[in-house]
Amino acid sequence: MHLQQITGHTRFGGLLGSPVAHSLSPAMHNLSFETLGIDAVYLAFDVGQEKLGETVRVFRDLNTYGFNLTMPDKKKVMEYLDEISEAAGLIGAVNTVVNDNGRLIGHNTDGTGYTESVREQGFDLKGKEVTLLGAGGAARAAAVQMALDGVKALHIVNRRSPSFIEACDLADRISRHTSCRVDVTDLGDESAVRSLLAGSDLLTNATSVGMAPDTDASPIRDPSMLESGLVVSDLIYHPRRTKLMEQAQERGLKTFNGMYMLLWQGAAAFRLWTGREMPVALVRERYFR
Ligand code: NAP
Repeated sequence: MHLQQITGHTRFGGLLGSPVAHSLSPAMHNLSFETLGIDAVYLAFDVGQEKLGETVRVFRDLNTYGFNLTMPDKKKVMEYLDEISEAAGLIGAVNTVVNDNGRLIGHNTDGTGYTESVREQGFDLKGKEVTLLGAGGAARAAAVQMALDGVKALHIVNRRSPSFIEACDLADRISRHTSCRVDVTDLGDESAVRSLLAGSDLLTNATSVGMAPDTDASPIRDPSMLESGLVVSDLIYHPRRTKLMEQAQERGLKTFNGMYMLLWQGAAAFRLWTGREMPVALVRERYFR
């Protein structure tokens, strides 16, 4: 939107978190508003946990359309909302808030962003068996949404750290709320991980292992664990081709990175705020090449 187009009717919303200056979200949402002729703007606000409550109150009172949250605000924000979606409740984090006339409703579109990016690769999650590496924020979002979308069995694999216990709690929550069978395995137990992978259709890396600058690292030490027929997906998109993807490609396996998870989580947030479809092809062409 050009400055001259901002009027007394223009609504705003944006991203809260810290840091936020690097985010692609303002570019993708503002291009979408402009393209669809929606009188709104999206800005980024560097807000840590201490100022979050006050900022959320301001966003509610100023009749914004809503906002996104990034680290470190995704959990803390739940204290200030009026309603939480099923997926966000199970994940335990909110990345998108809709302001419905002063009533704040929390959603999590990271998980749908991931499952949409999987579908886009022609992979139908229904009835499939998935091994998910990691138990952090991104892993929890992907795990919950895959279970809600009909994955038959989900094997969460994390190293033995304090998050291992959290992973067990998550597995328990998902098992109680969906028909997906969920178990948790120690990443250090290579023979167990090998046998999980042998029975899986999809491997999802949601650890940060392999992310820049540590691009020579892979969460899978022995590539012979990656057997034929397995699809390998990495949530990392910096670099675009991770060491894990390289290992999988050398074994002839299909791979994809986390680039389009980012795009589709934004598209889902845009739909919640506007009821319209983001012009995904245009946004992809402009910012995701
Ligand atoms: P996080 O909450 O910090 O979780 C990191 C995960 O990686 C944890 O399970 C952690 O295990 C594991 N991990 C870290 N170092 C490890 C190591 N040396 N060996 C084994 N496991 C290790 O981070 P996050 O927000 O979930 O993000 C995880 C990855 O997803 C990042 O690379 C991020 O860039 C990517 N991501 C992508 C998108 C997207 O839109 N594509 C969105 C969000 C995140 P411990 O708990 O044991 O430390």
